[in-house]
Amino acid sequence: MNKRDYYEVLGVEKSASDKEIKSAFRRLAKQYHPDVNKEPDAEAKFKEIQEAYAVLSDENRRRQYDQFGHAAFQGGAGNSQGFGGFDFGDFDFSDIFGDIFGGGFGFNFGGGNSSRARKGRDKIVGMRLSFEEAVFGTKKDINLDVMDTCDECDGKGGHGEETCSECRGSGTVTREQRTILGVYATKTTCPKCEGKGKTYKNTCSKCRGKGQVRKNKTIEVKIPAGVDTGNQLRLSGKGEAGINGGPNGDIYIEFDVLSHQLYIRNEDDIYLDLPITITEAILGTKKEVPTLYGNINLVIPAGSQNGDKHRLRGKGVENVSNHRKGDMYITLKIVMPEKISREQKKLLETLAKTGLDNNSEIKKYNDYLRKNK
Ligand SMILES: [Zn+2]
Ligand SMILES: [Zn+2]
Repeated sequence: MNKRDYYEVLGVEKSASDKEIKSAFRRLAKQYHPDVNKEPDAEAKFKEIQEAYAVLSDENRRRQYDQFGHAAFQGGAGNSQGFGGFDFGDFDFSDIFGDIFGGGFGFNFGGGNSSRARKGRDKIVGMRLSFEEAVFGTKKDINLDVMDTCDECDGKGGHGEETCSECRGSGTVTREQRTILGVYATKTTCPKCEGKGKTYKNTCSKCRGKGQVRKNKTIEVKIPAGVDTGNQLRLSGKGEAGINGGPNGDIYIEFDVLSHQLYIRNEDDIYLDLPITITEAILGTKKEVPTLYGNINLVIPAGSQNGDKHRLRGKGVENVSNHRKGDMYITLKIVMPEKISREQKKLLETLAKTGLDNNSEIKKYNDYLRKNK
């Protein structure tokens, strides 16, 4: 399936502010809401708009999307790792729909009741990678403490379920307030069962009624080829346990990639300074050059200058989202011997007498001197 770019869906620039994104979403949501728009594709359009907004209005998701494109959220069922399974069902549109439609407009994304299912908290974990691990991808274990559903009580918080005596299972209680203007009835969350509608004869001793316990988990993470410092990988559903049956939170792994001994990486391109001697530059030669994909022999033509660049197409890093490979750029760096023998000195003195000044920069310099005497 060819998915449209989220920015395109909302008709905003990549640099759009949160405010611009919100107002674009409002305008389009009003236009395509299936209760208003009776065109056959209105519902599909509306969903597309919702999805784009769910991603672009969230700082973390937007950053992931900017880095990895749709690949950041592909997959869905059966693919719980990273780059996978973005479910915007847990996205709370209620506040924005509230102001668009003045409330009560057909959409119900859940209210403020504390018994409502809530997503568990997300976690961010830093991970250091070697240059090669980042370029080629790897598998790593992470070890962390997360709040997990208590297995003693299945997350209920106790044993011996009973209907709450205070609210008779409704989760809310009505309070009457007497004021000089009359009696007001207000509905609030039941304080005894905290809105659950149920209480337990025995509080679970393992989680002390919380339904969750701290657990140490080891998770194997598959790191795709091409990640870089600052990139985040999302492990969907691996974060803290959800509340009242809500989905688990996510883990975001943020990478810190160590530098390489020779290469400099800039996005998907690799830069390498290749040191060569003056005679190699003057006479030309072949040099063995290490690339990410094995060593190659690079032809250095006679008369090469310091700073000359050679480009090796496709020898860069594989892009993490579109899998296209970047290039490798080799810059010649003519270096001088740090020490020479007596014999070499003699040869160089002989060579110097022959003159090695057949060079346009030297000519330009000498011309200037001559004219400005
Ligand atoms: Zn109650
Ligand atoms: Zn428990």
